[in-house]
Amino acid sequence: MLAIYPGSFDPITLGHLDVIERGCRLFEQVVVAVLRNPNKTPLFTVAERMEQIRRSTTHLSNIEVDSFDGLTVTYAKMRRAKALLRGLRVTSDFEMELQMAHTNKTLSEEIETVFLATSTEYSFLSSSLVKEIAKFGGPIDHLVPPPVAPDIYRCYAKTLPVSVPTPDLMPTLEHPKTESLPEMLRDLE
Ligand code: ADP
Repeated sequence: MLAIYPGSFDPITLGHLDVIERGCRLFEQVVVAVLRNPNKTPLFTVAERMEQIRRSTTHLSNIEVDSFDGLTVTYAKMRRAKALLRGLRVTSDFEMELQMAHTNKTLSEEIETVFLATSTEYSFLSSSLVKEIAKFGGPIDHLVPPPVAPDIYRCYAKTLPVSVPTPDLMPTLEHPKTESLPEMLRDLE
């Protein structure tokens, strides 16, 4: 059975990845579908988010990354999916998610919404939280998949924590000049 995991993923977090990995064990195929939402100003473009998800899920074989706009149900029907995968963290998620699941049911009787309860270690985690920490120069390596962290640090480079490796931000430190003064003077001759 094919399941669609729709969301903003701006950016993907370890909480999202946990849902994706568990979804891949439950369904034959999981399509992680990035919503093109004109009402939101995202940190990363849809193409960047798709690439981040791809780089974070190379260990999974039954996954596809795609994007869509409009109604999730319309996209799911087009893909012939039978299930929408969603994650639940706290009770405030539940109210919105239940309303969305009920609404989607009125649009398509055949498509079921399947909820996965968050793993306890990620129950506090959201993309907004990651962005908030990074904005103020805090570390986020423990909250997002390893290939995604450098992208986030790059976005907030001005408030970068000292401990973060920044090879492409500081090329002069990464490639220090090795010529000694006498050598340089000789070159000038
Ligand atoms: P949306 O804008 O559709 O809520 P998100 O990228 O924020 O997009 O979330 C996509 C889905 O992933 C939602 O169902 C959300 O509840 C779920 N999710 C987000 N973070 C976590 C987490 N830490 N644990 C479990 N599910 C999560």
